[in-house]
Amino acid sequence: MRTIQDIPDLANKKVLLRTDFDVPVADDGTITETFRIVKQKETIDYLVSRGAHVVMVAHASDVDSFAKILAQLEKILGYSIRLLEQPDDIEKYVNNHPDIALLEDVRKFDGEIRNDEEFAKRLARGFDYYINNAFAVSHRNQASVSAITKFLPSYAGLQVIVEVRELEKALAASPLGKVVVIGGAKASTKVPMIQNFLDKSDAIILGGVVANDILKAKGFDVDASKVDESLEEVLGTLDLKSDKIMLPHDFNILENKILDIGPQSIDKFEQIISHAKMVIWNGPMGLFEDANFAKGTEAVARAILASGAVSVLGGGDTVSAVDHLGILEQFTFVSTGGGAMLEFLAGKTLRGLIALQ
Ligand code: ADP
Ligand code: MG
Repeated sequence: MRTIQDIPDLANKKVLLRTDFDVPVADDGTITETFRIVKQKETIDYLVSRGAHVVMVAHASDVDSFAKILAQLEKILGYSIRLLEQPDDIEKYVNNHPDIALLEDVRKFDGEIRNDEEFAKRLARGFDYYINNAFAVSHRNQASVSAITKFLPSYAGLQVIVEVRELEKALAASPLGKVVVIGGAKASTKVPMIQNFLDKSDAIILGGVVANDILKAKGFDVDASKVDESLEEVLGTLDLKSDKIMLPHDFNILENKILDIGPQSIDKFEQIISHAKMVIWNGPMGLFEDANFAKGTEAVARAILASGAVSVLGGGDTVSAVDHLGILEQFTFVSTGGGAMLEFLAGKTLRGLIALQ
C-alpha cells in the first residue's frame, strides 16, 4: 500500500482527504460518539503541519447537512473549517484559500454511490494528491473511495495504515487462545467472518440477533425475537454444528423476544474469555440501548479486559456501547470500521485499499 509517508513534499500541495465523520447524532444535534472524528485528527495535523492545503470529503448518515455538526467538528479537530456546498466550489476554494474545507455530504451528489468516473474526475480537479483515511468505507466501491484513485496519485492516511497493520496482526495471530465474539444484527455481514475464523480461533462466541438466527436455523423456538431475513441464504454453508461455535443457552426475554443473553450464558462466556490470549469482538450481545438489556454486552466488555488478552474491537454500536462504559481506551485496538473490519477479517481485500496498492 502506498502511504501518506511516501509523499516526499507536502508544502503548498493540494490534498483531497477522504475522512470519516459518520457519527451518531442525537435529536438535539449532539454527536453522541466522537471516536471516528477523533481518529481523523492525526492525519489532518500531519498534512497541515507540512503545509498542505486540505479539502475533506465525507458522508453523514444521521444529519442531512454537515452544517448541523460543523461547530462540533471544528472543536474536536481544532481547526476552523469552511463548508463547501457543491463539488464545483472546491477548485475555486482550494486555489484561493489555504485553510481547511469540507465538502457537503458526498453521498448527496449524483455519482458518489454508483462510483461514477465523471463525478470522481470533478472531485479530483485542481488537486495534487488523494488520501484515503476513511477505513470504515474502504470496502465500498464509491467514487470518493474507489474511482477517485484513477485521477490522482493516491495514498493511505495514518488511520488506514494502523487499521491494516492491527487487523492483519489479528488475522495472523495463532489460533491457540484466540476467541472471537460476534453479536449485533445484519448476519449477512458477519457470517463470512465467522466462517473465516472457524479454523483461525479456539472459540466463536455468539450473541445478539446473529445468535437468534443460528438458534432458529438449528430448530430452536425463538418466538417473536428479531431474526435476519432470508436466513438460509445468509447462513449459507456455515457449519452450525462446529464445536467452536458457542451459543447462549439462557436469555433475558421481554414480550416473547430474546433481548439479551442470560446469566448462565454470561458465566459461560466469561469462562471462555478468561482463558483467551486474544479476543476479537464485533457486535453487542443484546439490545444494549435499553439498560435492561445491556448486561451481556457489559459483561463481555469487562471479561475481555479482565482476561488480560490482546483485545481488538470494532463496529459503530459496539464502540459506542463500550465507550459509554468509559473503558474504550483500555482495549488494545479499536477499529473505526464496522462492515469494513468484518470484510477485512473475513479475509477479503477491500476495494478502496486495492486502489492504493
Ligand atoms: P455494530 O455496529 O457494532 O457492528 P450491529 O450494527 O451489527 O453492531 O448491531 C447492533 C444492533 O443490534 C444494536 O442496535 C442492538 O440493539 C441490536 N441487537 C443486538 N441484540 C439484539 C436482540 N437480541 N434483539 C434486537 N436487537 C438486538
Ligand atoms: Mg451498527
